[in-house]
Amino acid sequence: MTAKETKKLEANIKEAAKVLSQSALNVALTGAGISVESGIPDFRSPGGLWERYDIMEYGSISAFRNNPEKVWKMLAEIGDTIKDAKPNRAHKGVGQIEQIGLLHTVITQNIDNLHQEGGTTNVIEYHGNFKTLSCLACARTYGIEKVDSEMPPKCTCGEILKPDIIFFGEAIPPEALRDSYELASSCGGLLVIGTSAQVTPANTIPGIAKQAGAGIIEINVEPTHLTTLVTDIFLPGKAGEIVPKLVDAAKELVSQ
Ligand code: NAD
Repeated sequence: MTAKETKKLEANIKEAAKVLSQSALNVALTGAGISVESGIPDFRSPGGLWERYDIMEYGSISAFRNNPEKVWKMLAEIGDTIKDAKPNRAHKGVGQIEQIGLLHTVITQNIDNLHQEGGTTNVIEYHGNFKTLSCLACARTYGIEKVDSEMPPKCTCGEILKPDIIFFGEAIPPEALRDSYELASSCGGLLVIGTSAQVTPANTIPGIAKQAGAGIIEINVEPTHLTTLVTDIFLPGKAGEIVPKLVDAAKELVSQ
């Protein structure tokens, strides 16, 4: 980054902090990119999961119901990376923005529980959580450790367990859908971090917020289709580097 670009980024971070501090209600929408620095690869970057597994063959609920053993080959890889992952500077920074009163809720598409572990209390899990598994036959639930003892993990009733995540073809949990819509339509600032915004309906949230008049701040290592369509302030870079700078700028404004 040139000196000029660094200066521009610093000015934009201050501007973003100002947007957050002047709004009565801010929301964050996060995606796989915020957890990349915790060692969990995203799905769409080169080398990502979808390059090796066909989405419909492995990622749909009908695929799981038809052949759970096969789908667990992919799920085992996800479970392995998620179970020992720790929150990074971006998750912790987002938690701090909530603590200083500038963030109401995080709507996350991630299934890794790292926002909660990083100190955020209000989290809407749009796509569920991989840290628990459920039996589709008898509804018993288990912790993710179950994957260490047998693969595919089974319920005591004999059925193969399903992680509590939303597969393609499954409905978004109604409460998550409703609450996210309400927050998006009433927020004054939306912080979008590490999402390619290709998965619906989560990717409608920035447009809904924009229409409601919110300032849209986007943090990503590269521009997305949101950047030109709805983003007001684009902060290029790794979430683990940009979010802590945003926290510092926000703290400075709050203490004034
Ligand atoms: P995606 O893989 O489609 O996009 C990730 C985005 O993050 C990209 O735009 C990329 O440029 C950006 N990015 C990568 N590294 C970054 C970094 N260090 N800092 C900032 N940005 C970075 O992810 P998505 O939009 O969230 O959609 C994928 C779906 O897959 C989601 O619905 C999610 O449920 C699931 N998923 C979850 C996890 C997880 O829980 N950690 C991981 C992979 C996929």
